[in-house]
Amino acid sequence: MDCLFCKIINGEIPSKKIYEDEKVYAFYDISPIAPVHFLVIPKEHISCASDITPENSAVIAHVFEVIAHLAKELKLENGYRVITNNGDDAGQTVKHIHFHVIAGKQMGWSAEQGA
Ligand code: AMP
Ligand code: ZN
Repeated sequence: MDCLFCKIINGEIPSKKIYEDEKVYAFYDISPIAPVHFLVIPKEHISCASDITPENSAVIAHVFEVIAHLAKELKLENGYRVITNNGDDAGQTVKHIHFHVIAGKQMGWSAEQGA
């Protein structure tokens, strides 16, 4: 499958890996929008949040366990934001579900910008 994030998972495209287990992969975003900006993705190819089903949702719960673990490890004590862009209006550019974790600055809140 011609998927950028599947290629990152299997090492065809290099990434700055933070964490990996049998189900999940985490790496720094190539174009950060905050002092800390990484992505957490399931190894299973799920295109977007709209494709989460009872059959594949366990890995999404695991993604959030990994985020909590990494937030402790990276000492994000002041807080962090988790974002998943779903579809074109949200600006999803990579069609392999991914959870942006951004931190390291005080964030505003608007539908125009994540941070
Ligand atoms: P989205 O717009 O929600 O689909 O987010 C896709 C994200 O992937 C963007 O924040 C990009 O900067 C990031 N990205 C694209 N290519 C790479 C790459 N090769 N390594 C790391 N992050 C990437
Ligand atoms: Zn993929």
